[in-house]
Amino acid sequence: MLLEIENCFVSYGQIAALRGVSLGVPAGGAVALLGANGAGKSTLMRTIIGLLRPRAGRIRFAGTDITALPAASRARLGLGYCPEGRRVFPGLSIRDNLLVACWAGRAERARRLEQMFTLFPALGERPGANAWQLSGGQQQMLAIGRSLMNAPRLLLLDEPSLGLSPRLTEEVLGRIPQIVASGTAVLLAEQNAARALSVCGHGSVLRLGELVLAGPAAELAASPDIRRAFLGG
Ligand code: ATP
Repeated sequence: MLLEIENCFVSYGQIAALRGVSLGVPAGGAVALLGANGAGKSTLMRTIIGLLRPRAGRIRFAGTDITALPAASRARLGLGYCPEGRRVFPGLSIRDNLLVACWAGRAERARRLEQMFTLFPALGERPGANAWQLSGGQQQMLAIGRSLMNAPRLLLLDEPSLGLSPRLTEEVLGRIPQIVASGTAVLLAEQNAARALSVCGHGSVLRLGELVLAGPAAELAASPDIRRAFLGG
């Protein structure tokens, strides 16, 4: 496993947000992290990236115990994070948004920029445009592109479909197989269970801070429990 979370407990003061969560993401894989509002998806992502500390449990990444590592060291090890809410720099160009946090050398930066324009052609059409000029879907693509610029081994993607139309959701989530094929594993937090399971190999379901179901995506998509909870069936 590239990422292994073992029995993690995370609290905000008295509020227990994660209660003994264990989960794995294989190298070269994509895992959908499903759950309703408040289930603990964002908390788990912030714990993996190092913004929150578990009060118990372990996290291993690429063979290293990262439980006590600061966020910057985790990023250097190859963890990428695209938080909820399309946080782009509105006054910077598309190109500068992509380059602003990229630490690769000059030639590699140029190569990765081209890679992002291939992955999201809408961004490559006018790389000098300011981010505020972009549509919501394009801003989400830009946020994802920025989190890929350091070629992470694993990308944590927090609700990229939030606030997007079904068509744009389709477009954004539809890029996940390409991202995985280029060598970045993905952990995708989503409320849109059907769509998330269609682009991921595995799924895990959080409910009130506990992992209640996990398995191959096709099995989860067909599960009556999932259909009842998320798919209105
Ligand atoms: P959403 O889709 O709304 O982001 P989520 O599944 O990501 O939901 P979390 O945001 O991780 O859920 O929240 C898990 C629990 O922790 C919820 O009960 C939430 O109210 C609580 N919580 C989240 N952030 C904080 C915070 N900063 N302070 C206190 N409680 C918090």
